[in-house]
Amino acid sequence: MPLLVATHNAGKLREFRQLLAPLELVSAADLAPDLKVEETGRTFAENALLKARAFAQASGLITLADDSGLEVDALGGAPGVLSARYGGSHLDDQGRCQLLLEALRPFPDPARRRARFRCCLAAWAPDGRHCQAEGTCEGIIAPSPAGEGGFGYDPLFFVPEHWQTIAQLPPQLKNQLSHRARALRALRPLLLQTFPELKQ
Ligand code: IMP
Repeated sequence: MPLLVATHNAGKLREFRQLLAPLELVSAADLAPDLKVEETGRTFAENALLKARAFAQASGLITLADDSGLEVDALGGAPGVLSARYGGSHLDDQGRCQLLLEALRPFPDPARRRARFRCCLAAWAPDGRHCQAEGTCEGIIAPSPAGEGGFGYDPLFFVPEHWQTIAQLPPQLKNQLSHRARALRALRPLLLQTFPELKQ
């Protein structure tokens, strides 16, 4: 039985396929292209559950959904669930990065610029069975953007173990250490336990 992935993002789908092989994954872009779910939850986990449940009910398939974003300690966890909309919908990734740098201007000390990417995953079956997992990737917000790879806040997210921002790392390395990869590795055994029919 296939697992529906509640995303229209081809990059995410590719990452999910790699880390959940040999499970058969189908994309919401193919099966439920018009279904949009408002992310009204207060946490990443709530949003992932909302999306997984809505797509499972609409499609009749076991559905995997994610929600992710950046948490900066000095900003009390902001932008958090608002990461994609930080500063308003008129800003692009670069504008959001600039706004974050402004917000952190009073905190030049790297020790005060700790941050993490967090990814919450939820899988939901039409009969109500569900499971959840999360993963984080720890780093420090750099004083200025560096690197061309990745997306979103990657050019500002400095990973001390590699002494580079995520946007400077090779994509294969990002895919190993990312919050999404860690969440997927944690979810995999729970998925198979909760929904044994996915193996067939
Ligand atoms: P979503 O989970 O795709 O809704 O991601 C929400 C927002 O969090 C994105 O628009 C990005 O701003 C940010 N974000 C999530 N994951 C990453 C990442 O791996 N790198 C950079 N930014 C990310």
